[in-house]
Amino acid sequence: MRLIFLGPPGAGKGTQAQRIAERFQIPHISTGEILRQAVADETPLGRQAKAYMDRGDLVPDELILGMVRERLDRADARPGWILDGFPRNLPQAEFLDDLLRDIQQVCDRAVNFEVSDDEIVQRMLGRGRKDDNEDTIRHRLEVYRAATAPVIDFYRQYDRIVSIDGSLSMDDVTQVLVESLPRN
Ligand code: ADP
Repeated sequence: MRLIFLGPPGAGKGTQAQRIAERFQIPHISTGEILRQAVADETPLGRQAKAYMDRGDLVPDELILGMVRERLDRADARPGWILDGFPRNLPQAEFLDDLLRDIQQVCDRAVNFEVSDDEIVQRMLGRGRKDDNEDTIRHRLEVYRAATAPVIDFYRQYDRIVSIDGSLSMDDVTQVLVESLPRN
């Protein structure tokens, strides 16, 4: 199972990715988590990424693409994976397309979690992560609309996209999501 989770920040992608990863025994690859860990460990990547993350801007592709390639190259990602938070703009989507062709893998589904802006702001203020203040949240939403929403159209042309109402309860989202996945 190879899945790409799309949708605004705070849509619940991370929670659902964890559940589906557990169920199918595949790694949950969250670029946001990898970056937060790099910041905490004060690695060169983390040091460069930090200011962008604090502002709610995208970290430059130069820092992201190699990181994703390395992660997908690891042995545990061979049987499948869930990408959460990547791709986040069209160049990243095109990079992933080429990379998957290179390693002869195919993404089974791109899942688009739909949640309204009001609901997102409410949820994220309740979450209390360091980059979750109202200004940054608003900015992340703007970045999402401008850079990430076009990625949905990119996957639409492949007919592999499913949209899910992310405003449902977590358990209902999981159920709808599982039902939308290919059976194997
Ligand atoms: P959220 O779902 O709240 O947006 P993430 O954990 O996915 O949170 O990402 C947190 C931050 O990490 C983003 O605001 C951005 O700065 C950075 N980031 C994560 N993934 C990417 C990516 N694919 N490209 C660029 N920046 C990224």
